[in-house]
Amino acid sequence: MKKNNVITFRVCEKTQKMMDEELDWCKREKTPPYAKFQAKDGDTVITLYESGKVVFQGSDADLASDFWITTERINSGKVDIKSSSSNKSDKLDKSIKVDPKIYNSSSIGSDEVGTGDYFGPIVVTSSYVSKDNIKYLEELGVKDSKKLTDDKILEIVPLIIKKIPYKSVILSNKEYNDNYNKELNMNKIKAILHNKVLYSLKEEIKDYDYIIVDEFAKDFIYYNYLRNSVNVVKNITFLTKGESKNLAVAAASLISRYIFIKEFDKLSDKVGITLPKGASDVVDEVAFSIAKEKGIEYLKDIAKLNFKNTKKVEEMLKNR
Ligand code: MN
Repeated sequence: MKKNNVITFRVCEKTQKMMDEELDWCKREKTPPYAKFQAKDGDTVITLYESGKVVFQGSDADLASDFWITTERINSGKVDIKSSSSNKSDKLDKSIKVDPKIYNSSSIGSDEVGTGDYFGPIVVTSSYVSKDNIKYLEELGVKDSKKLTDDKILEIVPLIIKKIPYKSVILSNKEYNDNYNKELNMNKIKAILHNKVLYSLKEEIKDYDYIIVDEFAKDFIYYNYLRNSVNVVKNITFLTKGESKNLAVAAASLISRYIFIKEFDKLSDKVGITLPKGASDVVDEVAFSIAKEKGIEYLKDIAKLNFKNTKKVEEMLKNR
């Protein structure tokens, strides 16, 4: 049965402007009443209303809305999401179609973490899984990468990287803030970093069938972000929920998370507080207490300053 998921939330002016530009390619000619525009990306219909409300509708609504939820979280600090599904029971494991040809291939895959966390770096990893190593990874539980806890990740990633070639890049908070503090588009950062780790692994591995990226942008948008880059890796297969469809993507995701956990712990040690993940109110409180004690400049080395959290901390410093 084809599911009809509906996801609704409010977006600020900045996100509206970004949506207006980024979705321009798939806008419909007709606009419903009170809407700024309606767009159709694959199976998902996206309607942005004059009120600032945006509605994602269709079987892949959760995938299509994901990037914009993160963007809104960055731009305004919070998102109040309403979602409904016509088939709630399998909402998590929704119709992921695995192509056996891709799953059973020798492939290079990449995935990232840290893009939704105020504290901590962004980590992107590419990994190479040959046909011969698929069984080994399955036995370690890599197939269910999304469900693995941090403890389990700390346990199995050292075993994974014994057999699996990989390349990782860590974008520290300082580098992030120095390079990307104006008109940031998180997807552009991701594209540049994915390309970097894919290129360096591809230099070493010659025997692969596919290069797979866990899809975060349409292919032509991805390549558009890289239009000024050198050494652009071509012939990528972009897969949504890639870590469920290919073990190279799953392994890349786990290695990224492993490195992120380690880096996050180092940061917590450095600051002397257990830092919270994500970008919620708890994060604001912790960031505020750090800024109060060490000065707001200190956040430059441990947090992503363009997130709305920074503005909230500034207000808190003024008012408390
Ligand atoms: Mn991903």
